[in-house]
Amino acid sequence: MGITDVLTGLKNKVLDAATYELLRRNFELLEENNSQLKEKVELQKEENEQLTVENKNLLEKVREFEAREKYEIHKGIAFKANQDGVFYPTPYCPNCSLTMSDAGIGIYKCPKCGYVARPKIKADVLAQQLNSSRH
Ligand SMILES: [Zn+2]
Repeated sequence: MGITDVLTGLKNKVLDAATYELLRRNFELLEENNSQLKEKVELQKEENEQLTVENKNLLEKVREFEAREKYEIHKGIAFKANQDGVFYPTPYCPNCSLTMSDAGIGIYKCPKCGYVARPKIKADVLAQQLNSSRH
């Protein structure tokens, strides 16, 4: 019997001790239910936050993979293309996809993994070569 039914039964009647106890117990149960629901809400909030973070990380990974697909390796250097397939002159490491530092005379080094490419041609010229072979 729910609290509403109890109240309906009380309509136009005097509240006796037994009914009062019943009502009190009902309210106690409702309070318990309410606090349990609040706990559930808190747990779901936490779960939701975790899933939001997870989702964000996965989206970053997807973008990373999408970006990786647009790289082309030429003379040991990875070059990134824009959405139209035009390659930028920035040299990237084929292993880490990080920008490589210019060690001069066409030698490029990855700051992370130490990979060295020695095309002995400047990166902007290599990018131009890629672009002219494509267009
Ligand atoms: Zn590297």
